Amino acid sequence: MINYKDFQELFEDAASKNKKIYQMSEQREADITEISVKEVREKVKINLNAMKEAIKQGLKSKEKSMSGMCGDDCAKLLERYKGGNSLFSKTYQKVLTYAFATIEQNLRMGKIVACPTAGSCGIVPAVLIAMAESCDADDESLVNSLITAGTIGQLVSNKLALAGAVAGCQSECGVAAAMAAGGLVQMYDGTNEQILNAAALALKNIMGLICDPVAGLVEVPCVKRNAFLAIHAITAAELAFAGIKSVIPIDEIVDAMKQVGELMSSKLKESSEAGLATTKTGIEISQKLAQKWCSKD
Ligand code: SF4
Repeated sequence: MINYKDFQELFEDAASKNKKIYQMSEQREADITEISVKEVREKVKINLNAMKEAIKQGLKSKEKSMSGMCGDDCAKLLERYKGGNSLFSKTYQKVLTYAFATIEQNLRMGKIVACPTAGSCGIVPAVLIAMAESCDADDESLVNSLITAGTIGQLVSNKLALAGAVAGCQSECGVAAAMAAGGLVQMYDGTNEQILNAAALALKNIMGLICDPVAGLVEVPCVKRNAFLAIHAITAAELAFAGIKSVIPIDEIVDAMKQVGELMSSKLKESSEAGLATTKTGIEISQKLAQKWCSKD
């Protein structure tokens, strides 16, 4: 529970105390829940370990989802990397495979950490854990990053429900990318301003993303979207470190996202009544699955 009204209020309070965002959040969480900061961090570590376990299990599995649409993309990437073929550096390869590994575990009903939602669960762990491995950041550093990421998600959720059914995928995968971007800037010891700028850049460059899942399942486009937005988050962090600023401050971006969510047709908010869900192929898949599952009843 963090009860700052908005990012600006948190930023000003942190500046007045000369603290990082995660330090403000862990202290506030400890005060509200009446436990120590150490205990707060232990709780975050439990989530961190669950994220690592999801990646570990996901990297080993090729099991498809019940629909058969998804489940083996991580294995395909790993196969490609075995041959030494990649357009990506080793670190970026890891980011992609960790994103697929985690979200594919979600399809298999494996244990994941919703961050902020199950459909967007691959983005934060992929970015933070893969990048931590690349720069030898320890678990304490990862906890700092996760608290930073969680703070970003919490503050967005003060104004905007984090659900595709309410505001489209901008509020699920978009927010996850902002959380990952801010957490990554923390990992590389960026300033609070850089953290919020990275989150702002990630959010505003995904604004308007619709939620149009094929057959109403959190699979297409969700799975691949996790991988794409993990890379998006790293781009936002890189820009923030270069001093490239979001012209629109993050609080105003969140207000705009809320407005966009309200203007978005309900057909584009998880109802599967438009977008990819109603393409020729999307409808065929949906009908085939309905027949298959009805015949089992
Ligand atoms: S497309 Fe919809 S269901 Fe899929 S991850 Fe985005 S918000 Fe969630």
